[in-house]
Amino acid sequence: MNRPESDRLLSEEAFSMPGNDETRVGEIIGRNLLECAPDEPLHEAARRMSERRVSSILVVEDDRVVGIWTERDALRVDFDDPTTFALPVRAVMSSPVRVVSTATPLHELTVRFREEHVRHYVVEDETGRRVGIVSQTDVVLNQGIKHYLKLRRVDALVKGGLHALPAAAGLGEATRRMREGGVDAVVVDYGAADASAPAGRYGILTERDVTRLVAQRTADRALGELASRPLVTCRADDSLYRVRMLLAERHIRHIGVLDGEGELVDLVSFKDILSGMELAYVHELHDALRARDLALSASQRDLYLAEKVIESSLEGVMVTDAHARILSVNPAFTRMTGYAPEEVVGLNPSVLNSGRQSPAFYARMWDGLLGDGQWQGEVWNRRKTGEVYPQLLHITAIRDREGVLTHYAALFTDISRLKETEARIRDLAYYDPLTGLPNRRLLDDRLQVELAHAARLRCRLAVMFVDLDRFKRINDSLGHAVGDKLLVEIAARLRASLRDDDTVARMGGDEFLVVLNNLSGPDEAATMARRMVAELRRPVNVEGRELVVTTSVGVAVYPDDSRDADTLVKHADVAMYRAKDEGRNSFQLFEPAMNARSLERLALETALHRALPRDELQLYFQPVMKAEGGELVAVEALLRWRHPDLGLVSPADFIPLAEDTGLIVPIGEWVLRSACEHHRRWCEAGGAPLHMMVNISARQFREEGFAAMVGSVLAETGMTPGDLTLELTESMLMDDTDRALARLDHLRALGVCLAIDDFGTGYSSLAYLKRFPIDELKIDRLFVRGIDRNTRDAALVSAIVSLGHSLGLRVVAEGVETAAHLDVLRRQGCDLAQGFHFSPPLPWEEFVKAYPPAG
Ligand code: C2E
Ligand code: CA
Ligand code: CA
Repeated sequence: MNRPESDRLLSEEAFSMPGNDETRVGEIIGRNLLECAPDEPLHEAARRMSERRVSSILVVEDDRVVGIWTERDALRVDFDDPTTFALPVRAVMSSPVRVVSTATPLHELTVRFREEHVRHYVVEDETGRRVGIVSQTDVVLNQGIKHYLKLRRVDALVKGGLHALPAAAGLGEATRRMREGGVDAVVVDYGAADASAPAGRYGILTERDVTRLVAQRTADRALGELASRPLVTCRADDSLYRVRMLLAERHIRHIGVLDGEGELVDLVSFKDILSGMELAYVHELHDALRARDLALSASQRDLYLAEKVIESSLEGVMVTDAHARILSVNPAFTRMTGYAPEEVVGLNPSVLNSGRQSPAFYARMWDGLLGDGQWQGEVWNRRKTGEVYPQLLHITAIRDREGVLTHYAALFTDISRLKETEARIRDLAYYDPLTGLPNRRLLDDRLQVELAHAARLRCRLAVMFVDLDRFKRINDSLGHAVGDKLLVEIAARLRASLRDDDTVARMGGDEFLVVLNNLSGPDEAATMARRMVAELRRPVNVEGRELVVTTSVGVAVYPDDSRDADTLVKHADVAMYRAKDEGRNSFQLFEPAMNARSLERLALETALHRALPRDELQLYFQPVMKAEGGELVAVEALLRWRHPDLGLVSPADFIPLAEDTGLIVPIGEWVLRSACEHHRRWCEAGGAPLHMMVNISARQFREEGFAAMVGSVLAETGMTPGDLTLELTESMLMDDTDRALARLDHLRALGVCLAIDDFGTGYSSLAYLKRFPIDELKIDRLFVRGIDRNTRDAALVSAIVSLGHSLGLRVVAEGVETAAHLDVLRRQGCDLAQGFHFSPPLPWEEFVKAYPPAG
């Protein structure tokens, strides 16, 4: 039909059209046909179009349609050349124009749109008379609306809180109620005694009635005499489709909604249905996109649905034949690439190539396609404008029933914006804002790379722990501003004293870590360390003040002291403490004897083995609240270890140990079971719905049979899977994405929810996150901490929130310690919040006391 989409979507006409599967073209078109002669000047044709608010005009000569000019064609008008406006329509129209009959079924029309690559058809009735124009959009929207209406139930619109006025109340009260409640009708209650049938009890008075009463100059009378009766009703579980039919049939605009017991619970108006619509349509599209892979692979069975999905998809879609010749593209494709269908149909997709990928890259892509039948990855392509941009591309090979390859379907999203944000997050997350040096995270990455490199080249590598002596004193006596300037200067000197391919990172506070590669031996490391200590001792001028700081440096060498990154850093740390003990202002090479800590570790390990059988483990629970409103929605189970001598040991200290020793597997299972059991107690006490969030460690997640264990714990404890959220970290998913994906799918099949914990501290690869079936993101408390003071943190959190939302995820902020934190988070639209501002983790008894389940 011939009108702008948004208009169509919200027009009442959209509702008066039956949209069942036998729908024919004649039923969905508007009879608003505009025609002109070929010689009509363009500006005249355009004027008539805008006056009548139609989006196209037919060009007719001798009662024959010779062309069409549309709003889309208007986009091609050259506004700099005034003579264009006077051109005859003939010169700019598209032709030929194809014809369909009013009797053509919609599904047939859909197929024709695809095969004939046109955007409009003229519609003729049985006698050959032109009656309208139908566009592809019309078809999609009709399907969309019907689909929407059939899927949605009336109760989705019920707001509750129906207030009926008694029949004895006056007109004045009714109008006041409508005005103040912002509603356009009120229900009038004639009382239960009067009810021959339940519906007979109620009547209705609408705005339209009031207008009529004004026109009739009616004096104030009891509503009982003025209302229409009975009130037409439907059931809460009726589909909106049925309700729409009822409204149309009876020529009414309101309907009462009865609940399961036949009680009237609300009044729903035509307007209510309309207003939720645009939004809901977008949601529906979203769901349709999810279904797209299915729809594509089942393309024979359900070509029709695929067609609709493709047409309306927000992602670019390109379908080629088996020889990779482009058959069709969708509007999103045109939006993203700048190429109209007629410009690319018949060509090879290589017209889009940016030249950035190597032939080997494409060879791998084809391997994947021919082997697994699909391929996914990031690709740089070129727009028609020449601009190169990144896209996330998913290609599926489509085979027919006999297994013969017939088509390829490519789906892609423009991820330039995602990339930018990702880069920003990475930048924020990988560098220390004060000194501009890499932070610990980036150092960890580089150290891994350097170690692999050293192993390959069989050369040495040194890790140096650099710590300023008595820095705290400077900070305390001269203030943070001076301390900060000093750190910046020290960082610059460290950087300057190293070679280009060495790394220096700030680990936090006054600690730096240096990685020297390509060393010939421990002596060379010692020489460098000596030079560094001397260099840093030179006086620093800060705000006219001469400061002298000395440093202590600890050195550990690969492969002599260890081959493992963490151990090297630990050894360097130990050596640095020894340097301090020895009187500071010096360096120390690591010696095994220093490593008394490892003995401590052994003792702890032995104790941890006994923790489970001796019942020393306990769960604490921390509430998670709605950021807006503050209701309790979830609780995170956090593990505690009551060591007989050491007292309460922090999970941060023993979880890594438990991971190393594999003890995390039985411990993790215990945590999950215990959390589920506590949840059951909550439900039995009549508690409101509450999510239980449980942390899963990497080792646990990788364990064969992890998902099966979760499944059996759910079954044994009678836990509702949907109430359980497992918290994973990004690195678990990135290590081996295909396996991780399979595991996640397995977990999702159980019905549990999945969250990414500590988000922002890992890869922060949102484009890839999109691939995983995740429900929630938890922003690490590191970023929340400075959110009310530090614009970088605030920018980062805001970026995570908006991107999380754009991927359809719920966003939780951790470590919310103050009202100011919460305030910023709320403004940024963060969904949930957790932290000391609300409550620390509590033993179950205290948790229940603070948040009583029933009440
Ligand atoms: P996490 O998953 O990030 O848990 C949140 C941590 O932040 C908890 O530390 C919690 O006490 C602390 N926290 C909560 N609110 C605030 C706040 O407002 N400010 C600050 N500064 N901290 C806050 P906790 O309990 O010490 O746990 C530390 C980590 O140990 C957890 O970090 C989690 O990674 C791990 N962990 C705890 N329980 C388990 C478990 O059962 N299994 C596994 N695999 N890991 C666990
Ligand atoms: Ca957690
Ligand atoms: Ca966390």
